[in-house]
Amino acid sequence: MALVNIHFLNLQSNYLFADIAKKVNAFKVMHPKADVISLGIGDVTQPLCPAVIEAMRKAADEMGDKETFRGYGPEQGYDFLREAILKNDFLPRSIRISPDEIFINDGAKSDTGNFQELLHWDNFIGVTDPIYPVYIDSNVMIGRCGTFRDGRWTNVRYFPTTAENGFIPELPKGRPVDVIYLCYPNNPTGTVLTKQELRKWVNYALKNDALILFDAAYQAYIRDPEIPHSIYEIRGARKCAVEFRSFSKTAGFTGVRCGYTIVPKDVSVSTFEGERIPLNQLWLRRQCTKFNGTSYISQRAAEAIYTPEGREQVQQTIDYYMQNAHHMLSVLRSLGFECYGGENAPYIWMRTPNGMGSWQFFESLLYGAQVVCTPGVGFGPSGEGYVRFTAFGSHERTEEALQRIAQWAGKK
Ligand SMILES: *Cc1c(COP(=O)(O)O)cnc(C)c1O
Repeated sequence: MALVNIHFLNLQSNYLFADIAKKVNAFKVMHPKADVISLGIGDVTQPLCPAVIEAMRKAADEMGDKETFRGYGPEQGYDFLREAILKNDFLPRSIRISPDEIFINDGAKSDTGNFQELLHWDNFIGVTDPIYPVYIDSNVMIGRCGTFRDGRWTNVRYFPTTAENGFIPELPKGRPVDVIYLCYPNNPTGTVLTKQELRKWVNYALKNDALILFDAAYQAYIRDPEIPHSIYEIRGARKCAVEFRSFSKTAGFTGVRCGYTIVPKDVSVSTFEGERIPLNQLWLRRQCTKFNGTSYISQRAAEAIYTPEGREQVQQTIDYYMQNAHHMLSVLRSLGFECYGGENAPYIWMRTPNGMGSWQFFESLLYGAQVVCTPGVGFGPSGEGYVRFTAFGSHERTEEALQRIAQWAGKK
């Protein structure tokens, strides 16, 4: 008899964005003519830049020619891309990484979800709250999180980040946490950590022999030169941290699929007997077994964002989204809303007025202004009383949404 992995049955059955889609559809059925603007889902809207398209065309042509056709590539990714990453993303920040510490992937979601496979099932995980749901759900799938009670998992340590603590998570007290997920710039709050704050976490990990899984998917949106782009800007992080990066938000690759993970050779975890096991070798072994590499075309596309033209074009799109973010911040604040983030990230995290619940605000905004936001509580218990707006829309639609929100807020 084939038995199910019962841990999957513990997953909260309703995925946030499916719930949102359901509610938006219900609205559209009742109001078929309404023009709904979504500032909800975190997907980009602007097309790939010309340098990337040119590289993809060229790569496609190579694949159509017997002389230059490529079959399976190296599991860790092609050297040309790994070299470009080193030279552009790390050397300028004086971070020393070797090519065999870089693993090219098909996007950061797979690796942030899969990496926990390398760890014993009863490690105690900690996450900042609210947070990208993948970290917890992937741990639920192998039974690491306990049971779900009153909006939280019994065997997960939540580090609340709210306006009250300035969105700065506090180090765990009591039972030490073994594995810590950090995402900065943060999805959903759009807030960042200074070097000093991040250093506290690295020091905690070193002291407690914990592992940090650091998601830097939004590092390209950092404007403030003091804010770290990589956890390896902190001394000692090479010994305790793995970093995930993605071209999805950096260069509009959500539909192309390419990212990378850094697993330094100095990061190791322990057996019960105290033997140290380097994660780099283990992850390589895992990838060689379960992953056959990212498509050649996607990797050539990613390489192209590091050319002089590519860099400039990609930056233009990031600037375009950040103009939205700044505009949204100033309009929403002028309407009296309490907003966070949006300065080094493409997300605005807004407190709902008068202590309204996240979902209640979501519905009143949908019905009152035909604008979709994301209820903060969908990202964790500390997200209750907040909503997220994304800056990934076009200027025109974002402007239209803001005008409607202003009109709606004025009427109430
Ligand atoms: C969008 C996003 C990613 C990137 O996902 P891909 O699989 O690379 O498209 C990773 N982490 C967070 C927090 C994100 O919001």
